[in-house]
Amino acid sequence: MTTVRAASAALAEESERRHPEEPFPQYRLRSWEAAFPGVICGVTEAREDADFGASGNSAWTFLQRVEGLSSQLGFPAAAWARQVHGVEVRRADDVAEGFMSPGEADGLLACRVGALLIVTVADCVPVFILDPKRSAMALLHAGWRGASAGILRRGVEALGTEYGCRPQDLHIHLGPAICGRCYEVGREVLASFGDATGEAGRLDLRDELLDQALALDVPGGQMSRSTWCTSCDRDRFHSHRGSQGAAGRMAAFLGWRDPVDGSPGGPAGGQIRLP
Ligand SMILES: [Zn+2]
Repeated sequence: MTTVRAASAALAEESERRHPEEPFPQYRLRSWEAAFPGVICGVTEAREDADFGASGNSAWTFLQRVEGLSSQLGFPAAAWARQVHGVEVRRADDVAEGFMSPGEADGLLACRVGALLIVTVADCVPVFILDPKRSAMALLHAGWRGASAGILRRGVEALGTEYGCRPQDLHIHLGPAICGRCYEVGREVLASFGDATGEAGRLDLRDELLDQALALDVPGGQMSRSTWCTSCDRDRFHSHRGSQGAAGRMAAFLGWRDPVDGSPGGPAGGQIRLP
């Protein structure tokens, strides 16, 4: 465990770059969007008129915002599932146009162009997973419950089962989330990650998830983490913890759309590409 943690601490860091010009201001992962034409990856900025909380808004407002975000990003379809801090992951390939919500799940998978996957977060980690060889992707919502119960493993396994993805081909980025200095937790939380001291302390969810990904044979060179902390950077992001539970939610999004300007390297438009 100690050896693996030392490895994950050395992985690449990246600050998603702010795009203030978008109707929903947002932070986007430049390295992926440059390396994989057609990929759109990021999180929205915290603003009152850009709250993606499913429970804090009327269903109509929530749907309008999801639709607004996906059309702003150039996607005809979006998928979001009701999140329950579990380990369920669901396929979202069937959404051709409009909005799809495949029940309760904390992770979504797709292997098609034109569908935008969305999870909502405020401190929990948005886990972006991409297989550029197969045009497959997954987006997970990982709080301490989901992370300790193994949602990352479930996501990686489901990509393998559904689309034939191999861990060696996966790229993983952990987006804006509460950092290890800000996140004080009780002993039962630390115990769920194997801590045997029986004491309360601090938890870095992204460290834990990166360790898990390394243990699943995802290459360290294909993994990165955001430098943003939702609690330290509360003027930009919603923080559930930092606001004593009053905060809204950001939308984290991942999708593959037709590359603009016919740029090479992207997948063919509208086709489901299975191995
Ligand atoms: Zn912090």
